[in-house]
Amino acid sequence: MNQYKLLTPGPLTTTDTVKAVMQVDHCTWDDDYKQITQRIRAQLLALGHVAEPAYTAVLMQGSGTFGVESVLTTVVGPKDKVLIAANGAYGLRMTDICRHAGVAYTLYEQPNDQRPEAGVVAKYLAEDPAITHVAMVHGETTSGILNDVAAVGQVAKAAGKTFIVDAMSTFGGIDIPLADWGIDFLVSSANKCIQGVPGFSFILANREKLAACAGQARSLSLDLYDQWKGMEDGGGKWRFTSPTHVVLAFDQALKELEAEGGIPARHARYDENQRLLAENFQALGFRPYLDPAVQGPIITSFCYPEGATFTFEEMYRYIKDRGYVLYPGKVMEADTFRVGNIGEIYPEDILKLSAILADFLKETEAAQ
Ligand SMILES: *Cc1c(COP(=O)(O)O)cnc(C)c1O
Repeated sequence: MNQYKLLTPGPLTTTDTVKAVMQVDHCTWDDDYKQITQRIRAQLLALGHVAEPAYTAVLMQGSGTFGVESVLTTVVGPKDKVLIAANGAYGLRMTDICRHAGVAYTLYEQPNDQRPEAGVVAKYLAEDPAITHVAMVHGETTSGILNDVAAVGQVAKAAGKTFIVDAMSTFGGIDIPLADWGIDFLVSSANKCIQGVPGFSFILANREKLAACAGQARSLSLDLYDQWKGMEDGGGKWRFTSPTHVVLAFDQALKELEAEGGIPARHARYDENQRLLAENFQALGFRPYLDPAVQGPIITSFCYPEGATFTFEEMYRYIKDRGYVLYPGKVMEADTFRVGNIGEIYPEDILKLSAILADFLKETEAAQ
């Protein structure tokens, strides 16, 4: 069915069974459909090791950024200020969202290969009492670095601040116990580690903190409070047209996550994919960009070999013609390219990919 598999961090390669359930057209006001929405909300809370009434789940139309934007522009009030700890494009996107909506923020920026430090966050909080919220990314997809959310969460909690986490590329692939890590608002989306198709994001929220946000949103469509109220009061009713096919696919993807053995089994598969990828690519002359101590299991950045006689485009095309798509375009200052290993990807795919890359290098050398 697939022409090629995606080695990108979303949209990603999904199963044929996830794609198949989208053959059904569903209406949105019907009880069957609302029950699917309610079931998804409850399952997401369970995956985050939290439950009603302490926490609640909201689904939001749009890509992952819509979810992050809905949280920042609803939860950070007109008199509030958010400290954004960033070490890549997705952390910096939060500052962009704040600028657009006129949300007050302070940026603590680290280089792409360094994690934000909890001690430094503590210093920011001590020096600027106007800061009410702390926001950061868990798996920064720019580089593949895995940030220490638990450590920053502890500092945010100790200072009595609200903690917002973009766990877009990790939730479902890495265990995230929200309450233990001090997370008040977590955002992820349908097309990442749960392995659904693109079309909505979801927010797991501290219910009391969300309930205090009525009338605070800067946008109608992205009003997280109103979206939540609509779903709560309507028994699973979305405020505006919901992506019905995407929701059905997500429901199926959740069943398949459970069948695989839940988050621990999925995490183990991703870990094995990433380990094999880094090992084999390194043996072929591509050095991983990050220190293994901070490398996450989702996506790996590789340094372009010095004096390479081929372009990334040539390599990309050769591999794509043989069934795999890399993540094109470097986003960092370092000369790198990225390979994702989440989705319906198994160690045998990584071995095949490595063999294709080895063939490419041999052919390029022979052509010299
Ligand atoms: C994918 C991703 C997002 C959201 O990107 P969209 O293109 O809006 O879906 C946000 N943060 C991180 C860390 C991501 O990996």
